[in-house]
Amino acid sequence: MNVLIIGAGGREHALAWKISQSPYCERIYVAPGNAGTAQIATNVDISITDFAELAKFATDFNIMMVVVGQEAALVEGIADYFAEKDFLKHILVVGPQKAGAQLEGSKDFSKQFMLKYGIPTARYQTFTAETFDQSLAYLQNHPYPVVLKADGLAAGKGVVIAQNFEEASSAITGMLKNNKFGSAGSKVVIEEFLQGIELSAFILTDGKDYVLLPEAKDYKRIGEGDTGLNTGGMGAVSPVPFADEAFMGKVRERVIVPTLQGLQQEGIPYTGFLFIGLMNTNGDPYVIEYNVRLGDPETEAILPRIKSDLFELFRALHDHELGQFQLEVDSRSATTIFLVSGGYPEDYAKGKEIKGLEKTLPENTLCFHAGTKETETGQVVTDGGRVIAVTGLGQDMEEALEKANAAAAQITWEGRNFRQDIGFDLKQYLAD
Ligand code: ATP
Repeated sequence: MNVLIIGAGGREHALAWKISQSPYCERIYVAPGNAGTAQIATNVDISITDFAELAKFATDFNIMMVVVGQEAALVEGIADYFAEKDFLKHILVVGPQKAGAQLEGSKDFSKQFMLKYGIPTARYQTFTAETFDQSLAYLQNHPYPVVLKADGLAAGKGVVIAQNFEEASSAITGMLKNNKFGSAGSKVVIEEFLQGIELSAFILTDGKDYVLLPEAKDYKRIGEGDTGLNTGGMGAVSPVPFADEAFMGKVRERVIVPTLQGLQQEGIPYTGFLFIGLMNTNGDPYVIEYNVRLGDPETEAILPRIKSDLFELFRALHDHELGQFQLEVDSRSATTIFLVSGGYPEDYAKGKEIKGLEKTLPENTLCFHAGTKETETGQVVTDGGRVIAVTGLGQDMEEALEKANAAAAQITWEGRNFRQDIGFDLKQYLAD
């Protein structure tokens, strides 16, 4: 069976790596892919939102499954496009249609949904340019810190945690009056700041039944000790020590089940991954956000822990058999560290030669490419802010981090940067 993966990051390299292990898989294509996916799959130079070209490719190359990594393709309707055309209907698209993708594409939609279905989340109100004056009055009376979120997709940059009224009013003026995020900021959700520790839960669902995948914690800030600017993600850890059975039971009961019931009651079909960003506040889960695909770098930490064949999991999704699917999970820990370009997440140079990729990786480590490309002379160079994700597997988190660090040490380029404290905040939860 041939598979097409949509995206170009470490997540898509990890998906290609995992799918390539299945005996059912014949050929893997990645659109557009990177220098890493090119080693195990065939890269296809088609934009992730050029649905007509992707559909043509899928029919020409006998694709039976499209796995969508990147959210923009889903929010713009790739799954609808494939569902609407008779000649594409036999293809399983792993990723929801536009209606379901709103859970990620509109924060106002997702907050209304959570409120309606009693899913625990921070209290909020939404404002637009027309209600700008009311938003200022609301912010004047709100306790601080307060969280402001541009409604639409803003590549992780549309969230401001304001410490005082001055910061909050400047942020909301930027979004509602000065068009800072374009149409993504034409509505702004203002919500209560939740105290606690974050983690992410992932399910694969057909809208009714689901399989819970291993959970993960990601590290968003550029600096050690979670300081500095937000990034796409600097690392991830799975499993998360405080996500014990009692906590995950609450996540299933209070979040996952009502979310799926809500989708059904709204008449919203959903086939694909759902990523639930959670805050653990004194042992209770609150939803911070939904994403309608897997996370990056979380995928690079959770897929290496899944022992089951991903193809069989997707087949169960297709056949509505997820309810009976027994996911086999490796009990070891996985730690992922992202190696990034110097200067990221601000300005950074591209085209730096990456050294050390040809060396054999240390035992129990993996290397996934993100912003890389191969030049005409066959050199692999940097081509983005987040460049390479390395994952280490170990009996515990510390051993996994040691392994990941060993792999990180042998891959270098001018200006390479990475966080050395991934998982440190979780040590307090580990048994002595
Ligand atoms: P991304 O796509 O990068 O995950 P996003 O732009 O979709 O981010 P959110 O995940 O909603 O935005 O928020 C980004 C980060 O801001 C969260 O991971 C969390 O650290 C922080 N945050 C968001 N909402 C809250 C809240 N109510 N209380 C405390 N922190 C919050």
